Amino acid sequence: RPALVWFRDDLRLDDNPALDAAKATGRPLVLVFLLDEQSEGIRPLGGAVRWWLGRSLAALAAAIEAKGGELVLRRGRAIDCIPDLARDIGAQAVYWNRRYSAPEIAVDKAVKLALTTGGIAVESFGGNLLHEPWTVETQSGGAFRVFTPFYRRAVTQAIRVPSRAASQWRFGHPPDGERREEWALEPTAPDWAGGLRQAWTPGEDGALTALAAFIDGGLDGYADQRDRPDLPSTSRLSPHLRFGEISPHRALAAVRHAEADGSAAPRDVGKFVSEVYWREFSYNLLFHFPDIGHANFNDRFDAFEWASDGALVRAWRRGLTGYPLVDAGMRQLWQTGWMHNRVRMVAASFLIKHCLTDWRRGEEWFWDTLVDADPANNPASWQWVAGSGADAAPYFRVFNPVAQGEKFDPDGHYVRQFVPELAALPSSILHKPWEAAPAVLRQAGVVLGETYPRPVVDHAWARQRALDRFQRIRAE
Ligand code: FAD
Repeated sequence: RPALVWFRDDLRLDDNPALDAAKATGRPLVLVFLLDEQSEGIRPLGGAVRWWLGRSLAALAAAIEAKGGELVLRRGRAIDCIPDLARDIGAQAVYWNRRYSAPEIAVDKAVKLALTTGGIAVESFGGNLLHEPWTVETQSGGAFRVFTPFYRRAVTQAIRVPSRAASQWRFGHPPDGERREEWALEPTAPDWAGGLRQAWTPGEDGALTALAAFIDGGLDGYADQRDRPDLPSTSRLSPHLRFGEISPHRALAAVRHAEADGSAAPRDVGKFVSEVYWREFSYNLLFHFPDIGHANFNDRFDAFEWASDGALVRAWRRGLTGYPLVDAGMRQLWQTGWMHNRVRMVAASFLIKHCLTDWRRGEEWFWDTLVDADPANNPASWQWVAGSGADAAPYFRVFNPVAQGEKFDPDGHYVRQFVPELAALPSSILHKPWEAAPAVLRQAGVVLGETYPRPVVDHAWARQRALDRFQRIRAE
């Protein structure tokens, strides 16, 4: 009787505990991916992530074919499809790596019950997090709400050594499946994914290549340069981690190896490891506070008076706010499906604080446009910026987009790349074109209000307005 492996957010063959365990039984394998857009509470995937998923499934299917097997594709509600499939093929057991959002946990519990009631065993594993969220607890057995103590506790706990699955592949007869093309995951008319195709190689090979490139390049100086969007200073592993094309264990083992052989500085490695633990922390929050995606973690913010100005939100989405760093970030997002972390913070702060827009509207836009749109990292980070989250940035912290641009994109390479209509402006004025002398603008071919917008809100005024509003909920 075969072993059924159910792939979800773990689209890899390397260091995949569920797959390894199924292989270790020696039973013939049947491998399935289920596109479940119907189970209750499951959040529909955003457009950029659908594109990524399509490419990633193609890569996984090819990798499995190269081993002599086949990835079976099915679509429907998990509770209908997985027990049926397991019964049809006469599976002895079903193997999967765990998921952590409340609706996914509910689905998995229901599927498990249906399977075990039918005499089919279920084996579930921790595959995509370094620590299962319930294993990192405070002294009193509760959930951490603050990153630093969470991190301090978590790093003392052992993590799995990534596996080198050496065992032979043995495949069972694959049942019928659907064709990926039928799912229309990738856009056709209009095909807006050209920039994504250029920027990314979804799939396990792409993930390992990105990791190797980072260790050869960006890791050196990461601690100091990770805030610089103009430099290739970060790993860009986030969409690969989002889909489990690489395990965090593999990523950490690789940087630790570089540290051990002297090719990476402990300071850079330590900083990178702590960033990966921010992801762990987000999942810890998602698991313990399952409403984090839609409810203010700090419920004082329920009384916050948002302004909801549609024109401002549109300008923000399109990268036409008149603040070059914000606009460069929003256009990077639109073109490539990704934005540098520092710029995410500035752009999110701008929407929330300068435009007084509910963080949930920004979270939704990122959910639709990011290739790494993640059920834990995205809402946790938005709440962090809003000040409504666990361990959040203080509410009075309002990023100044000009100062941030001058500090983190000092020569303007980043702005020039994504806001080309400003490219000819001198660096000294690039982040605040409205202060440029008319002759300077003329010479650079910039006509404010025509070729590039004037600021949609005045920074000093907007900052004060945000502080006043925050003061009101604080005083209540
Ligand atoms: P690196 O600097 O190379 O870091 C390595 C890995 O550590 C990342 O791939 C990521 O998994 C993790 N990581 C790094 N920084 C953070 C962080 N601040 N919080 C949590 N994990 C982190 N990240 C997502 O993966 N998905 C999202 O949907 C997402 N939405 C965000 C929304 C906002 C408003 C903000 C401010 C941040 C968001 N982040 C999100 C976090 C962060 O911006 C990205 O993880 C990071 O930019 C990815 O680039 P990288 O892989 O090159 O990062």
